[in-house]
Amino acid sequence: MSDASADNITTVAVIGAGTMGHGIAQVCAMAGCTTRLTDVSAEQVAAGLARITANLDKGIARGKLDEATKQATLARLSGTPTLEEAVRDTDLVVEAAPEKLEIKRDIFARVTAVVGEQTILGTNTSSLSITDIAAQVHAPQRVIGLHFFNPVHIMKLLEIVVGAQTDESVTGRMRAFAERIGKQPIVVKDAPGFATSRLGLVIGLEAIRMVEQGVASAEDIDKAMTLGYGFPMGPLKLTDLVGLDVRLSIAEYLAGKLEQGEHFNPPQLLRDMVAEGKLGKKSGQGFYSW
Ligand code: NAD
Repeated sequence: MSDASADNITTVAVIGAGTMGHGIAQVCAMAGCTTRLTDVSAEQVAAGLARITANLDKGIARGKLDEATKQATLARLSGTPTLEEAVRDTDLVVEAAPEKLEIKRDIFARVTAVVGEQTILGTNTSSLSITDIAAQVHAPQRVIGLHFFNPVHIMKLLEIVVGAQTDESVTGRMRAFAERIGKQPIVVKDAPGFATSRLGLVIGLEAIRMVEQGVASAEDIDKAMTLGYGFPMGPLKLTDLVGLDVRLSIAEYLAGKLEQGEHFNPPQLLRDMVAEGKLGKKSGQGFYSW
C-alpha cells in the first residue's frame, strides 16, 4: 500500500459483483488500483469479470482505449471467492450488495473484523441512510456513501454522501479519489434521497401525474423536457429504464422519511402499472413498449 496519490488509495475491494459492482471494480482498476471483486455467488464474480472484459473490448472498438490499457486493467483485477480474503490489506472497500440495511450492516461487520484502522468503508446505497448503515459499525467515522450511477464506466457523477459521523479527512480523500477514477464528485449531506434521487424522483412522479391527468402523452412530456429544457432523456423514459417498481419503492420510502413527504406520494397510475407488471424496460412494457 504505497502512498503514491493524493487520496492514498492503492488497493480496493468491491463487494457485490452485479450491475454496479462490476462497473465500480472496472473504474478502480482502470485508474491503477489493485482491485478485488467478490460476491456471495461465484457465478456473479465470473459474470462481473466477463462484463468488464466486454466493456473494455467495446471501448477498444470505439477507439476510446487501446489493447495495452485493457491488459493492464485486467492484470490489476481479480475475482476473490471470500469477502475476508478480498478485503484484507485494502485502503478502500466499496459495498455494492442489495439495497437492504441488514445486508449492508452485516457486510461491514465482517469487513471491520478483518481490515486495519485506515480502511475507508464506502457504500453504494442509492437511498439508505449512511448514518443508519454506520450505526453498528465499529468505526462509523470511516463509513461514507459513494453513490455511483449506471453504467458506472460511462456516467460521470459520483455523489459522495457524508454520514453524521463521517470524518472530514475521509470525505476529502474520497473527493480526490473520485477525480482520479474520472468522476466528478458532489458532496451531499446524509438526507433522504440525497441530492440525485430526491430531485430526480419528484420530476418523475410529477410527469406520471401529468399522464394520469391527461395533460399530454408520455412521449410529449418527455419531448417537453428534452427539447425544451435540455434533459438528455425524458423523465418517463428514465422511469422505464430505472424500473417502475424501483421508483415506487423509493417514492414510498421518501414519502415516509421527508418532512415534505406529500411530494413523494406515489400517483395511483404508478401503483396500478406496477400491480399489472408494467415495470418498464425489464418487463417489455412501461410508459413505452420495449
Ligand atoms: P445487483 O442485484 O445487480 O447486484 C447485487 C450483487 O450483490 C449480486 O451479484 C448478489 O449476488 C450480491 N450479493 C447479495 N448478497 C451479498 C452479500 N451478502 N455479500 C456480497 N454480495 C452479495 O444490484 P445493483 O443494481 O448492482 O445494486 C447494488 C447496490 O447499488 C444497491 O445498494 C443499489 O441500491 C445501488 N445502486 C444501484 C443502481 C442501479 O442503477 N442498479 C444505481 C446506483 C446505486
